[in-house]
Amino acid sequence: MRPRPSWGWQDAAACRGEDLVLFFGPDGERQPEREIRERKAKEICAQCPVRTECLDYAISRPEKYGTWGGLNEDERASERRRRMRRANAA
Ligand code: SF4
Repeated sequence: MRPRPSWGWQDAAACRGEDLVLFFGPDGERQPEREIRERKAKEICAQCPVRTECLDYAISRPEKYGTWGGLNEDERASERRRRMRRANAA
């Protein structure tokens, strides 16, 4: 499990004090458990006042793992591609 470094916006994060396993998952996690865990993590993200900052950070860097800004790995990859297409079209 990788620890999250501290950034200023994280001081207001709704996930402060939460178990990081909820956001990154345990080793060997199976898909049904993963879906339940991610749903719980996303519920916290949905209430988070720094969700935009968190998502922008995770998308701007190669954060391959975990739930950031309410999106899991696959969803962030899609969002990253969507933003790149939008930037290229501008
Ligand atoms: S959006 Fe989610 S992962 Fe990001 S800081 Fe907020 S609660 Fe934590």
